[in-house]
Amino acid sequence: MAKITGFLEYDRADNKSLAPKTRVKNFDEFVLPFTEKTLNEQASRCMDCGIPYCHNSCPINNIIPEWNSLVYEKDWKVALNVLHATNNFPEFTSRICPAPCEAACTLNIDDSPVAIKSIERSIIDKAFEKGWLVPEINNSKTNKKVAVVGSGPAGLACSQQLARAGHYVKVFEKNDRIGGLLRYGIPNFKMEKHLIDKRVDQMKQEGVFFECNSKIGEDVPIKNLLKDFDAIILACGSEQPRDLNIPGRDLKGVNFAMEFLTRQNKICEGDNIILEPEFSAKNKHVVVIGGGDTGSDCIGTSNRQGAKSITQLEILEKPPEKENKMLTWPDWPLKLRTSSSHEEGADRNWSVSTKSFDGDGEKVNSLTLKKIKWKKNKNGKMEITEQQGKDSELKIKADLVLLAMGFVHPIKDKLIQDSGLELDERGNVKANDNDYKTNLKKVFVSGDMRRGQSLVVWAIREGRQVAHNVDKFLMGKSDLPF
Ligand SMILES: Cc1cc2nc3c(=O)[nH]c(=O)nc-3n(C[C@H](O)[C@H](O)[C@H](O)COP(=O)(O)OP(=O)(O)OC[C@H]3O[C@@H](n4cnc5c(N)ncnc54)[C@H](O)[C@@H]3O)c2cc1C
Ligand code: SF4
Repeated sequence: MAKITGFLEYDRADNKSLAPKTRVKNFDEFVLPFTEKTLNEQASRCMDCGIPYCHNSCPINNIIPEWNSLVYEKDWKVALNVLHATNNFPEFTSRICPAPCEAACTLNIDDSPVAIKSIERSIIDKAFEKGWLVPEINNSKTNKKVAVVGSGPAGLACSQQLARAGHYVKVFEKNDRIGGLLRYGIPNFKMEKHLIDKRVDQMKQEGVFFECNSKIGEDVPIKNLLKDFDAIILACGSEQPRDLNIPGRDLKGVNFAMEFLTRQNKICEGDNIILEPEFSAKNKHVVVIGGGDTGSDCIGTSNRQGAKSITQLEILEKPPEKENKMLTWPDWPLKLRTSSSHEEGADRNWSVSTKSFDGDGEKVNSLTLKKIKWKKNKNGKMEITEQQGKDSELKIKADLVLLAMGFVHPIKDKLIQDSGLELDERGNVKANDNDYKTNLKKVFVSGDMRRGQSLVVWAIREGRQVAHNVDKFLMGKSDLPF
């Protein structure tokens, strides 16, 4: 245990950030690290609980009490080893994970959980700064060949694990850069992309081969992979966005969130892209439809592009400001969440449904909305009813509309159509989370392509677990962790 009286002596502290007015001037990260003193105090708050709920609620079961104690003792290298024992990419999770561990921390009963995510970040940032991140090369090769399709966090995690087990691993990526949604979905201000490049360099040295601009199913037929490789892992994500097919959907300026975010991320990469007017937020009234992470990212990006106003619409009711701890802890609570992008400026509207995109026949200029109510029907299911009366319908200005209502399943492209892959009832590729096997011989699946749109930390878990199964499939047994 770090310090027996730590949690009594020190309050929880959060990382400070640059002020919203300053940080919206560019796309850089803006969270400031703890001072050594604050970090030491924060680590000392961990009580090393008999049942560490933090550890149980973490999808990759990070060994949190141990690193807290090691950071308190300033034993950084061992802390790094403990962190890497369960997580290939703590530099990603410590920046963008919603941190179910903190919701589950015993000290969260009192609203002051240990600052687990900030402590995780301090360990991996120090390792980068000190140059402790070295390739872990396995010189005893198995001569087995694995193809990984997709280079998001699931594809990267399984590739790294399998290369370290001695297999030949080749990653095929349809985009021009590695990283999946880490690269082209999540904006730079949440996670700078040099972090992906550093890991890719490490993985190349560990023996992973990367081939970009290679779309399996089109540029390379899957039958070629089946012929050339001993196992194939599909990690193509869940890229089919939920659409809103109402009048005016085809007006210019009504776009999917990813069409908007990807363009900006490519500009941040230095690509020579001229942003088409219908994809720019500059001097526009922007409306973001959808209240999740993607919606927040659209707000942060619109503010940085110089939007005139930003309104976020959510069909659900406004959640409570504070959860009922006795009912929810240690589970993830439903409550009002205000992201750093919301802090930078946006109006938020709940319980509204969009009836039409209106415009001049070419471009969108407003939206017609209807106020709604959620009610339980006689079977106990929540149902929408539209409010009546003249105040129940409203029109708002909108020169740019961003659809951020989630993703329904993987794109049904040639890879899925021609291969005979079985899908589940939600349209994801069917496999369980014990063996990750699809209906096709030697073809496995992991990440969002299997579980549906989720979180980076779940993608890393699935990548690690599919790697264990593929190793076992190839070698008869596996020492990789499951
Ligand atoms: C805008 C946005 C913000 C998000 N923010 C967060 C966040 O803050 N925190 C969080 O935890 N999660 C967040 N998520 C969710 C998270 O990014 C995903 O759950 C995660 O990236 C899934 O990882 P994956 O490896 O399964 O798939 P992806 O990251 O989607 O990667 C799939 C890869 O496969 C490639 N591919 C697809 N088909 C083919 C093919 N036929 N051939 C070759 N390559 C192919 C794609 O180009 C892509 O690179 C966010 C998602 C979005 C859209
Ligand atoms: S639940 Fe909180 S206090 Fe307990 S071990 Fe985990 S981080 Fe420490």
